[in-house]
Amino acid sequence: MSQAETLVAVQRLRLTPVRRRALEILLEAHRALGAYEVLERLAEEGFGKQPPVAYRALEFLVENGLAHRIRRLNAFTACMHPGEAHVPAFLICRVCDSVAEAAGAPVRAALDDAAIALGFSVERASIEAVGLCPQCRAHTQAGGVAHG
Ligand SMILES: [Zn+2]
Ligand SMILES: [Zn+2]
Repeated sequence: MSQAETLVAVQRLRLTPVRRRALEILLEAHRALGAYEVLERLAEEGFGKQPPVAYRALEFLVENGLAHRIRRLNAFTACMHPGEAHVPAFLICRVCDSVAEAAGAPVRAALDDAAIALGFSVERASIEAVGLCPQCRAHTQAGGVAHG
């Protein structure tokens, strides 16, 4: 991740304290967070308990390319490539729900090629792949859980 890029984007947008804190909460988390988890953290820190506060902050971050919504998990994650036009490709671990954002450029190129063949112009897309993260793969192998 490029923290520097994120910081530049944050300065450019002049984030309000609650939006900035919501982004920091996403960046600190090692997995995607539901809106309610973000709301709880914001409330603990004195930003208020009203759900719209968290929802609006998260929506703003998504609209401005600083965060993504992951539909499968109904959760949010900080963008790892802010400031770049990209199709986010999420690799979601089915065991621990950790989320990695893969470099989206090749995915976007492949999608555009496929779309052009059908005369379709892609404006927005996101890819969600489910599988096992490195930690859970190692754990599964070490634990000898394999059946047959
Ligand atoms: Zn992204
Ligand atoms: Zn995992």
